[in-house]
Amino acid sequence: MRALLVENIHPDAVPVLQSAGVEVETLKKALSEGELVERLAGVHLLGIRSRTHVTEAVLDAAPDLLGIGAFCIGTNQIDLAAASERGVAVFNAPFSNTRSVVELAISEMIALTRRLSEKNTQMHAGVWDKSANGSHEIRGRRLGIIGYGNIGSQLSVIAENLGMRVAFYDTTDKLALGNARAFGSMDELLEWADIVTLHVDGRPENRMMFGAEQFAKMREGAIFLNLSRGFIVDHGALKAELESGRLAGAAVDVFPKEPASSDEPFVSELRGLPNVILTPHVGGSTEEAQQDIGAFVGTKVARYLTEGVTSLSVNLPNLDLPAPAGGWRILYIHRNVPGALADINSLVAQHGINVEGQFLGTHAHTGYVITDVATEPPEDLLDGLNKLEATIRLRIVAFD
Ligand code: NAD
Repeated sequence: MRALLVENIHPDAVPVLQSAGVEVETLKKALSEGELVERLAGVHLLGIRSRTHVTEAVLDAAPDLLGIGAFCIGTNQIDLAAASERGVAVFNAPFSNTRSVVELAISEMIALTRRLSEKNTQMHAGVWDKSANGSHEIRGRRLGIIGYGNIGSQLSVIAENLGMRVAFYDTTDKLALGNARAFGSMDELLEWADIVTLHVDGRPENRMMFGAEQFAKMREGAIFLNLSRGFIVDHGALKAELESGRLAGAAVDVFPKEPASSDEPFVSELRGLPNVILTPHVGGSTEEAQQDIGAFVGTKVARYLTEGVTSLSVNLPNLDLPAPAGGWRILYIHRNVPGALADINSLVAQHGINVEGQFLGTHAHTGYVITDVATEPPEDLLDGLNKLEATIRLRIVAFD
């Protein structure tokens, strides 16, 4: 099998794929739609990051493609519905950079609470101000986390280890880790916290969820952080709170409009405000995160190619059946219609083949069934399976 990895994917992905018997070609740059269309015949696995767009036209030109590894967090750059319709499994790295975001948030909470950015600016301007006014420890401070998912919950644990009192608000029920306290409403959390930090996801309902009304509920002198999505916060309202002195400081890593490249200027009403730390959407950008993404996605796609396992796939039902000691595995992706499993099993039984293990999963329009058999499936069985109306893609894997 052949893999094409573009966009300078971390080299740790390469040995993982090679040890699964995959021949790997790597490119430093992203490929355009036209370039992908020309290059994908004979490629079984495509590895991309965020700048390569996998459209329906690209998928149509890639009849051999079995899987796509998005060596990043987001998968918006891939037409996931078109990939599912063609039985192409897509994988990403949903939590490889979680720790990186958490560490940046912790460092910013300490920096803002000690007013480090102001002290640093003053020192560079030749001003020596040793005053302790407005500088605090974070130990004992109340941290309010909005969004208790991968990042929010890990931040909870580390903040508590630094002596902070932690509470959170999430729209779904979450297990409170350590001594963290769950609030039933965001308003209660805002009234309680000394530091409020946003870690919600980018669902459309969260657009502008945090504005003048929410800032007004925060405590006088509180600190605000957003390392989640730019479009969820009203930056005009944040600026007013910082200028009036009601908020003591803020750290913002994500913006409603971010420059597409370093050639474009960064425009924001938050520029130039004291005790405000601005970073260019680098919360998850560390070498460790990139390395983890390489190994994590590499392993996911390698297991899909060699065993058909789809655990954590973003577009196919997630199936994880242990590799059998020997025999054959029938991997069957199909349209999610009634009777698909009965049709497969009846064909397998007609050939006198006993099923050793089987696992079915369906979601939305797609179903996926893994069937382990001890006898090599003959050609006419494969023909019969391929001819079933529901069939999207059929693949056989042999185990020694
Ligand atoms: P996640 O999906 O694991 O967690 C999000 C949590 O937010 C979920 O528990 C969800 O129920 C909750 N939620 C959604 N809307 C809510 C609302 N209105 N109020 C309260 N809770 C709400 O996501 P994650 O991996 O923890 O990532 C969190 C955010 O961080 C995402 O927006 C992600 O895009 C962003 N992120 C940013 C960077 C960066 O570089 N700055 C890096 C990685 C992730």
